[in-house]
Amino acid sequence: MSESMRARVVVIGGGPGGYVCAIRAAQLGTGVVLVEKDLLGGTCLNRGCIPTKALLACTEALETIREAEEFGIKVGEPEPDLGAMIQRKNAISETLRKGIAQLLKANKIELVQGFGRLAAPDKVVVEREEGLLEIDTEAVVIATGSEPAQLPTFDFNQPSILTSTSGLELTEIPPRMIIVGSGVVGSEFATVFNALGTKVTMVELLDRILPTEDARISQQMKRILNKKGIEIYTETTIEEIVEYRPDGLKARLSNGEVLEAEKLLVSIGRSLNTKGIGLEEVGVELGSRGEIVVDDRLRTNVPGVYAIGDCVGGILLAHWASFEGICAAENAMGMESHLDSRVVPACIFTDPEIGSVGLNPAKAEEQGIEVKVGRFMFGGLGKALAMGKSQGFVQLVVDARTDVVLGCQVMGPHASDLVHEAALAIKMNLTAAQIGSTCHAHPTLSEAIMEAAEAVHGRCIHAAPTRK
Ligand code: FAD
Repeated sequence: MSESMRARVVVIGGGPGGYVCAIRAAQLGTGVVLVEKDLLGGTCLNRGCIPTKALLACTEALETIREAEEFGIKVGEPEPDLGAMIQRKNAISETLRKGIAQLLKANKIELVQGFGRLAAPDKVVVEREEGLLEIDTEAVVIATGSEPAQLPTFDFNQPSILTSTSGLELTEIPPRMIIVGSGVVGSEFATVFNALGTKVTMVELLDRILPTEDARISQQMKRILNKKGIEIYTETTIEEIVEYRPDGLKARLSNGEVLEAEKLLVSIGRSLNTKGIGLEEVGVELGSRGEIVVDDRLRTNVPGVYAIGDCVGGILLAHWASFEGICAAENAMGMESHLDSRVVPACIFTDPEIGSVGLNPAKAEEQGIEVKVGRFMFGGLGKALAMGKSQGFVQLVVDARTDVVLGCQVMGPHASDLVHEAALAIKMNLTAAQIGSTCHAHPTLSEAIMEAAEAVHGRCIHAAPTRK
């Protein structure tokens, strides 16, 4: 027998899109039900952002110990224990999950554990262990996220084939690993396993690694990864797995070479969770990749049905999913909120890190905008040298006519934090001259942003002027 209830807003999916959306709707004073079939926090907290950053923090500590002598400290060769690192990662995820559960409770949000689907635009049905639950509602927000994309070339039942999810559960360090795909996820896994001592080979279909980043960053990062011992094949695919063994595999590349490894990790993108949740039946429009089509207020074509996060395609990032969640909640509650997609910082936690926001020079050119670019190298910055982290640069992109900041790319220490000064500048339509004339504390990494802003006008103090 099925039970029933009523709530003004029902959110399906408790990832960073869904749980943030639920909290915002509750803050606006309404009854909210959040439906989650698995763990609170979704991909981000359990299989994505947080687990990868927890492991990267371990390998950063490992590298710091290895470089100790540079800082005048004598230590022996450190011994990584991947099992212990995985336990630490799991404990961090658990702490954060408990935190979300407390926030839901404090905001009086009802959490329903089970698989949710749309039965009508104003009705959600949840399959729970204890039986069906029908929820009548005024607004539904779909926040079902995504899963690792799989290719028929690979047999994912083989122990040697990993996705980003199973790659985060290894407790033994594999001697060799092939990583298919050199985007954000592939590059972060390469950073972790290279530091652990695995011989990493990356195979990328396109002509450069990190293909969505600025070309200069891709080139420099390739040199840095090569120097660390990571082998990189670009414009190459895996043609066939010629042999699966219990302890490894042999893969034939499109250039004819055969590679052997204990593990092969597939990181070729995400497939969106939009099947089997009643969307077609209710008439919600889907795009060619299965993404839910929404407008800039996160409304689908069906009144009262909203969608946010990875399942709408586009920018697959946790903070963007949360922003979309806030916007959808406000619209569902009768406010008029729109997304501002000019400012979406994107960070890659390689060593060194990468942070980018807004337009890079190539994207500006595509849009027919004439730009000026100011660059500053971390090699010229006292704080970076003191930290022993002098690789990389800041690149500020401004409108050539107005000097207004349009974009920023940072590769270097704490790039993921530094890029937010430029994000705020873009949001507030600030100019390079305004950033350059803002006093920045010394010695800090943020001085690099000020110097890059001054470089736009050829007034950079700590870099020799470029010859005209
Ligand atoms: P998800 O986080 O996928 O959550 C969806 C939730 O919905 C899940 O909990 C799922 O169980 C639930 N669900 C699905 N279907 C149903 C249903 N029918 N009924 C009930 N519940 C359902 N992004 C960053 O910004 N920074 C990073 O550093 C970063 N690192 C990443 C590293 C990796 C390895 C990966 C894979 C991703 C990373 N991402 C990162 C991307 C980020 O994790 C996602 O963009 C983000 O989690 C999307 O949030 P979401 O709420 O849309 O979906």
